Amino acid sequence: MSSSTVPTRTQILVIGGGPAGSYAASLLQREGFQVTLLEAAKFPRYHIGESLLPPMRGYLRFIGLEEEFEKHGFIVKPGASFKLAQGLRESWTDFSAGGPDHLSWNVIRSEMDDMLLRHAAKQGVQVFDDTRVDSIAFEGDPASSRPISAKWSTKQGASGEIAFDWLVDASGRAGIMSTKYLKNRHMRESLRNVAVWGYWTGVKRNAVGTRKENSPWFEALTDQQGWSWAIPLHDGTTSIGVVMHQDASIAKKAKLNANGQKPTLTEHYMEQLEFLPGVKELIGDEGKFIPGSTKSAADFSYFATRYSGDHFRVIGDAANFVDPFFSSGVHIALTGATSAALTICASIKGEVSEELAQAWHDTKLGVAHTRFLFVILGAYKQMHLQDVPILSDISGDNFDFAFDMFRPVIFGLADASAQLTSEKVQQMMDVFERLFDPRVNEDTVSSVRARYGADVVSPLAPVLGQDGVAAVARGDADGERVMLRFEALKVFGQDFAALGMGLVPLLGYVARVQRGNMGLDKADARAPEVTAAAATAVAAPATFLNFTRILQRPSLVRRRSRHSNLEFGIVETQQSAGAP
Ligand SMILES: Cc1cc2nc3c(=O)[nH]c(=O)nc-3n(C[C@H](O)[C@H](O)[C@H](O)COP(=O)(O)OP(=O)(O)OC[C@H]3O[C@@H](n4cnc5c(N)ncnc54)[C@H](O)[C@@H]3O)c2cc1C
Repeated sequence: MSSSTVPTRTQILVIGGGPAGSYAASLLQREGFQVTLLEAAKFPRYHIGESLLPPMRGYLRFIGLEEEFEKHGFIVKPGASFKLAQGLRESWTDFSAGGPDHLSWNVIRSEMDDMLLRHAAKQGVQVFDDTRVDSIAFEGDPASSRPISAKWSTKQGASGEIAFDWLVDASGRAGIMSTKYLKNRHMRESLRNVAVWGYWTGVKRNAVGTRKENSPWFEALTDQQGWSWAIPLHDGTTSIGVVMHQDASIAKKAKLNANGQKPTLTEHYMEQLEFLPGVKELIGDEGKFIPGSTKSAADFSYFATRYSGDHFRVIGDAANFVDPFFSSGVHIALTGATSAALTICASIKGEVSEELAQAWHDTKLGVAHTRFLFVILGAYKQMHLQDVPILSDISGDNFDFAFDMFRPVIFGLADASAQLTSEKVQQMMDVFERLFDPRVNEDTVSSVRARYGADVVSPLAPVLGQDGVAAVARGDADGERVMLRFEALKVFGQDFAALGMGLVPLLGYVARVQRGNMGLDKADARAPEVTAAAATAVAAPATFLNFTRILQRPSLVRRRSRHSNLEFGIVETQQSAGAP
């Protein structure tokens, strides 16, 4: 991409030009650092990961790429439809309810990733595609010392070495730091899944003529062995994929076909469509499979014991990945990129020690990952796909920390037990299973919102807890189901706000996500609302800010007086922390 040759020295080296690497490189260059990015593939290159979450828009806006994205013509994604139980209407996650800023896109990744990489080059990053990092040299033992240089090569036979002060590893699933040097990647057994997918023309769009049009369609297989996606793309094709546990996939592939032979990958893929009445309906008579478009991936759920070390950060898929369900990959990649940029800035400026900057980054990535892990496990429970014990898959320091943060939202502030037990894990999955309650659809949400108010039925509303919801709903079954669904969404409080990480303290520090001034601030030196109390509500910061206001609503105050347990937890914390 760059016409010059790779320099022999750079201030910051980024490995990988996917969304994580390009975004981190843009941010750091815009902060005035000198950044070089080496990408192994020739761009544009194919990639899976076509459905994006709402915070994408805010991330793009922050680096000045939203308008170009908007103009490119990607399909605007108003939400996502989930049919996880046959015989019942699908549920719909309505992105548009949060306003136009929450509308996202379905993208062709070769185009999106190319735009992000070119944008990094426009910011001044020295970008070299078709240039692979082959090895990294360290001051001493790679497990405990600082990386100082990298050897690179191209397919045309060029090679060299580049020295650097800082390293950002965004090498995707290859994860050069994690797999080759730190050797700290752990596969997650419970989500040891296999995906197989392909591309189609002539497939009908989901819910044409309604607000839901163009939403990706997610559907459980009727044999309860997995789930599928159907994502419409702006070139008129549709990406259709199937995900199932490796054991189920092996068993299905072992069955001989009518000719007494094992099915090819495409035959195996086509056979799964028989278990997908909704997808078949979308394919209809006009849908045509594009020959040769079948692809597959396996072993994509993993995490690591840490995502940083002295003068390096690991981000995106190089760090961890949960599962394609819920389309969180690119979002977590950009969250990690932002965390890497601001912790490097904070460390260089001396705002925090490098050790604290590393711990902040590890925690940030651990929490982001764990949030989606529980949503996905909740969905898998709903689809009856979760029959293996998972506690051993979610251990580790980052997860304990994340669990500590979600605890107030999920179990209420009265729950003082910090221990993550199998029972608690199941309870958390139960909470997230409600996100996919097939009895809740957009009409139910609208009518419940009309009855109780948009400031109650919102992911940014105060945490009510199960008792609080029962108290407010007073036997209104729909009301209770919708409010319980929104309780689960509250764990995403900060993730619903674009670049919301600036709102919430971690380890006593909050992110400063401001152009030219990125870094970390001591939490108590910032806005008064960012207090120790807000730290308790890390998963739903707005809870604390809005709670008093909502309790003052006459309808709810009346209910509160009859159901004193509505005060449970939240008010106590506000008082003890002196919040307004
Ligand atoms: C089946 C499936 C479906 C998915 N669906 C979705 C979805 O709908 N929505 C979503 O958000 N996410 C989805 N994902 C996840 C998403 O694809 C990833 O999370 C996302 O691409 C991560 O971005 P990244 O920049 O970390 O890695 P990548 O996009 O993989 O980029 C890493 C880059 O590093 C380069 N690289 C690797 N090694 C080297 C090296 N040694 N030297 C130089 N460069 C190197 C690679 O060539 C690559 O371009 C899905 C994943 C799977 C498996």
